Amino acid sequence: MTATDQHANTIETLSEWKSSPGLFVGLDIGGTKTAVLVSDRSMNVLGWGTAATVTSSPQALVEGIYRAVEDVLAARGLATDDLLAVGAGVPGMVDPQTGIVQLAVNLNLHTFPLGSALSERFDVPVVLENDVRAASLGAYRWLKNISPQRFMAYLSIGTGISAGLVADGRLYRGAHGMAGEIGHVIFDPDGDRCACGLSGCLETISAGPSIARQWAHNGGTAEEVFAAAKQGDLAAQLVIQQAAQGVARAVQLLVMAYDVDRVVLGGGVMNAGDVFLEPIYAALAEMRAQSPLAERMLAADKVVAAPKEADVARWGAVMLAFLAFDNPGAFSLAGTRSQIGLKKNA
Ligand SMILES: [Zn+2]
Repeated sequence: MTATDQHANTIETLSEWKSSPGLFVGLDIGGTKTAVLVSDRSMNVLGWGTAATVTSSPQALVEGIYRAVEDVLAARGLATDDLLAVGAGVPGMVDPQTGIVQLAVNLNLHTFPLGSALSERFDVPVVLENDVRAASLGAYRWLKNISPQRFMAYLSIGTGISAGLVADGRLYRGAHGMAGEIGHVIFDPDGDRCACGLSGCLETISAGPSIARQWAHNGGTAEEVFAAAKQGDLAAQLVIQQAAQGVARAVQLLVMAYDVDRVVLGGGVMNAGDVFLEPIYAALAEMRAQSPLAERMLAADKVVAAPKEADVARWGAVMLAFLAFDNPGAFSLAGTRSQIGLKKNA
C-alpha cells in the first residue's frame, strides 16, 4: 500500500485548501436521473438540480452530465471554470483508481473509462465510486453531525439492496469494490429466484420491486403496498413485515460481521417512513428479546434512518470530489494532475 493509497478514501484529513474559494460538484448518476450538488470548500451548498440521464451512448452520457452541471452553475451565475473537482456515484462496478466503469447496465456502460472522459470534459479531477458506497460516505458525514461514530455501515434499500462500510472516514471497498453487496446474500434458500441467478437473496425479500411483486395486486409499486398497509390491508402488512424481517437480518449481519457502531438506513424504499421503519425496529426488538448477545450488539439506538433531506447520495459524491482534489495523485486521471497543482496553489 502506498502513501496515496492509504490516504485515498479518508475524509477526516482535509487540508488547508478548505479556506480558499472554489467549487466541488457531487453527482448521483442514476439510470433515469442525474442529481447534481455544488458545494464550496466549506461544504456550503451553492446549487443543486436534477436532469435526465442520457444513456444512448457513453459520449452522450458524458455530454449530458456536463450540461446538467453547467445548468446548475449558470443558475447561480457560476461557471465550470470555477470547478476544482467532481465526484460521482455510479450504479455499477467501478474502479475509482482508474475511473473505469466495468459494468453499469442502467447507464449502458461496459468497460468504459467514464472517469477520464468526465475529467477531460470538465478539465478537473473526477473520482467515481459505486453509488451506494459513495452514499455511505454521505451517510458518514450526516452521522458525524448528529452522533459521530468511528465504524458505520450504510444499508440502502431501493430497487436493489446494498451496503457500504466506513471506518474512521475511510471507505472499505474490499478487493473488487464489492464489499457490502449483501443484497445477494441468500436469506431463504427456498425463496424466489433472484436476477443474479441464486434463489432467496435478500433482494427477493426486501427490495422495492420484490415488495411490489409479493403483494397480491399485480403491477403495483412498493409505494402502493405501503399505502395499502397504512389503510389496514392485511396482505400488504404481511409483505411489509417479511421485508422488514429481511432488513433486520441484514442489520444483524452487518453488525455481527463488522461490529459497526451504527447502521444507517437509506434508499428509496426507506422513504416510506414509519410504516416500514416500525416493523424493522420490532424485528430487531424480537431478536434482542431472544438473545443476550443480540441485546448487547443490536441496542435500540444501533439503527438510524437517514432523512431524505440528508441527501446522502449527493453529499457522498461531494466527499469524493474533496478526496479527488486533496489526493489527485491517488487517482489515475491523465492530464489533470498538473492543472490541479496549479489551481491548488493559485
Ligand atoms: Zn441475488
